[in-house]
Amino acid sequence: MRVPKLSPKLTVLKLGGSVITQKEKPFTANLSAIRRLAKEISNAKVTQLIVIHGGGSFGHPLAKKYSIKEGYKGGNAQLLGFSETHQAMVTLNRVVVDALIHRNIPAVAVSPSSCIVTKSGRIATVMEEPLKKLLQTGFVPVLHGDAVLDFDRGFTILSGDQLVAYLAIQFNAERIVMGIDVNGVFTADPKEEKTARLVRRCTLHELKKMQTRMRDTSDTDVTGGMLGKLIELAPAIEQGVPALIVNAAKPKNVYKAIRGESVIGTLLQKT
Ligand code: ADP
Repeated sequence: MRVPKLSPKLTVLKLGGSVITQKEKPFTANLSAIRRLAKEISNAKVTQLIVIHGGGSFGHPLAKKYSIKEGYKGGNAQLLGFSETHQAMVTLNRVVVDALIHRNIPAVAVSPSSCIVTKSGRIATVMEEPLKKLLQTGFVPVLHGDAVLDFDRGFTILSGDQLVAYLAIQFNAERIVMGIDVNGVFTADPKEEKTARLVRRCTLHELKKMQTRMRDTSDTDVTGGMLGKLIELAPAIEQGVPALIVNAAKPKNVYKAIRGESVIGTLLQKT
């Protein structure tokens, strides 16, 4: 019997909220996408894997309603808002973890709010030991964007994207794979600009230039969407961890990307 070649080093896989939820329908998971992705992850037989997912229609509406990102202003109503936001993410996390276990992947849910504290929105302290031990034992930790405690703000929102880069650096990952709902990084938002072209490869230097261009052309939320991702990923690229951004809404892309096979998407690399 042929034993498939297994990757000895860690892969950090992000499943975008836009892929695993129905963005227009509050609190609605995209079950068929989640099940397909679980099957792809299982088929890929990657030994060392951390999965991180976004919030999509679970996390965002509540976080916005209660202004969780901006911090704690006092009173019970906003505390409840924090609880509800976290709980919505746990609910989505459960769907993802269930789908992975169903495919015989030893997935274990890890909520950032229980092991991470931020300072002004940036990761400050992390209880790394349980995560490290989970990986060493052969588990697949499944984390998510979350409402977390913050030293300056009381609490805030920690994005899955920030978590991806942090853990990839900390655990010396071999690669980052970002699954989103478009084919990769384009010269402009492909949902707005029909003429936008896919960028297949991008060095750190080009990435910095692209950030500046995007900053100049986007007028609203500079921390979200593709620009936010590129800003968060830059430190990991700088540390030598390549990131591959692929369309996870299309079958087989995540499978190929986490196996290190050639796939349509954007490869961000230091040089
Ligand atoms: P997710 O929720 O999957 O993590 P986001 O919705 O936050 O992802 O960000 C991905 C979205 O960013 C894409 O669906 C796309 O519409 C938008 N976007 C904006 N600018 C670009 C760009 N230059 N290239 C690719 N996508 C872009």
